[in-house]
Amino acid sequence: MSPYLINGSILAERQREQIRNEVRSLRSEGVLPCLAAIRIGEDPAASAYARSQAREASSCQIEYRLVELQPDILVTGALAVIEELNTDPSISGIMLHLPLPAHLDAFLLQQAIAPRKDVEGVGATNLGLLLMGRKALVPCTAAAAMACLKSLANPIEGRQAVVVGRSVIVGKPLALLLLESHATVTICHSRTRNLSELTRRAEILMVAAGRPGLIGAEHVSPGCIVIDVGIHRVESKQSDGKPIMKTVGDVRFDEVAAIASAITPVPGGVGPLTVAMLLENTVRAAKREKQDPRA
Ligand code: NDP
Repeated sequence: MSPYLINGSILAERQREQIRNEVRSLRSEGVLPCLAAIRIGEDPAASAYARSQAREASSCQIEYRLVELQPDILVTGALAVIEELNTDPSISGIMLHLPLPAHLDAFLLQQAIAPRKDVEGVGATNLGLLLMGRKALVPCTAAAAMACLKSLANPIEGRQAVVVGRSVIVGKPLALLLLESHATVTICHSRTRNLSELTRRAEILMVAAGRPGLIGAEHVSPGCIVIDVGIHRVESKQSDGKPIMKTVGDVRFDEVAAIASAITPVPGGVGPLTVAMLLENTVRAAKREKQDPRA
């Protein structure tokens, strides 16, 4: 039987529709949600990401301000810009495009973003709140992967969930979100022994390893729900032998789809939901600022 294909584009459009309603209501009360995105230097992937953020923000009536800084800016200069945005009442959320020039420390700059405006959810305060099961601005990719899972009617409570990857922006927050939903969670990483033995126990398998095609049929038990966070551009061959660039995930889709009960494709699964989650966090930040500007 073919698995259920989780369509991230449809889910993202539903999410944007919900955001539009919230923004309409905020605007009627005089609040204009605004996302400030800081880009330091020119990176083609960051520029493409900024363009897609601008497009989606505009489709949701969210203001988008791209703050472009010179690649040779000093750390003090970058911190001063962040502080200015932190205290600017017209800005609801701030995000920092990566990668940064080598002389700048992403951790230092991200931690300088005010927690109430940290819409990527990567600051210590929001991650700490998430750990404590409190209301937090949740890292967007982890939230997107959870939204894919929650779009299914299947219960999460009591299920064996395995997360492959333990990064701060995806694997760890994802594991915490699964715990919050009462799954029994195992986290695997590059030092895990017998990966396939552990992943085969999963009823829910979330993969964020950053390794194209890492997970194949040998890692998955029949009926498993598979959410693939990975996204890679790789060279492949057309039927005439000519090389072509293809987007693939961490999961070998065809093999795993033959066994799974539901699966996210790449592209078209988790990816489209990530920006929607960033906008959702921006709206939440704007709402909170309105309710309690001191929070
Ligand atoms: P990182 O490289 O920061 O983390 C990868 C994690 O996977 C690490 O914890 C690493 O373990 C683990 N890992 C690596 N190799 C293996 C292996 N062979 N077996 C088991 N675990 C392994 O990546 P990110 O978390 O930032 O991203 C993960 C993937 O998600 C990437 O493909 C990225 O492109 C994608 N992504 C997608 C987004 C979207 O919008 N869809 C947004 C952000 C990321 P260790 O800690 O031991 O090194």
